[in-house]
Formats: sequence, C-alpha cells, structure tokens
Amino acid sequence: MGDTLFGKIIRREIPADIVYEDAEVLAFRDIAPQAPVHVLFIPKKPIATLNDVPDTDAALIGKLVLTAARWAKSQGLADDGYRVVMNCNEQGGQTVFHIHLHLLAGRQMHWPPG
Ligand code: AMP
Repeated sequence: MGDTLFGKIIRREIPADIVYEDAEVLAFRDIAPQAPVHVLFIPKKPIATLNDVPDTDAALIGKLVLTAARWAKSQGLADDGYRVVMNCNEQGGQTVFHIHLHLLAGRQMHWPPG
C-alpha cells in the first residue's frame, strides 16, 4: 500500500501527541477530537482497511483492541465507559487508509451514530 499520514506519524516525520507506544502499536490524540478523550490506536504495520487484514494478523487486531481497553483503564475511563470504532472505506467514513481504532470517552455516547 502507499504511504499515509499515519506512516509519517510512526516515523516521526510529522508531529503527534503520542500517548502510548510499543513494538507493534502506536496511539496518539486525534487532531479533531469528537469527545473530550479521542485517541487513535494504530498498528505500526501498514494495512489499508479492515478488509485487507489477513488471517495471520488476527492477533494484531486483537492486540489493538485490548491495548485501547487497557489504556482506557489506565486513564480511569473504564468504569464510566467509552466507545471504540473502526471505520472502513467510504460509507464507513474512513479517510485515512492505514487502519486505526478510535477510542472516544469523556461524554455520553449515543446510538445509532449519525
Ligand atoms: P477515519 O475518518 O476513521 O479515517 O479517521 C481518521 C482520523 O484521523 C480523523 O478522526 C482525523 O481527525 C484524524 N487525523 C487526521 N490527521 C491527523 C493528524 N495529523 N494527527 C492526528 N489525527 C489526525
């Protein structure tokens, strides 16, 4: 896949407010937050969309979700609750084609989403 904005953030070519990093995952605050807490969890491995995840990366996707949940807990957000979202392609609202999990917290969420 081609390079994306998030690839540049991983390589520190553009700045981001990074809140978590390990060998496989990076997390940083969304530049246009939709909630008091809005963090994007991304794999360092570039995968364009959820459609493109091979079976061999199932554990990586699981790790992305659990990393977000554990970070939320570490920030005291777990009991009040939060939302995690992964947008896929145009109708899903995806704009950056490097998979990412949105973690939204700090306000009441509503369902259905717009
Ligand atoms: P999506 O629409 O699901 O592809 O989400 C992409 C997200 O990336 C949006 O919520 C944007 O606000 C966010 N975003 C775009 N550029 C940056 C950036 N330079 N730093 C942090 N977040 C960004």
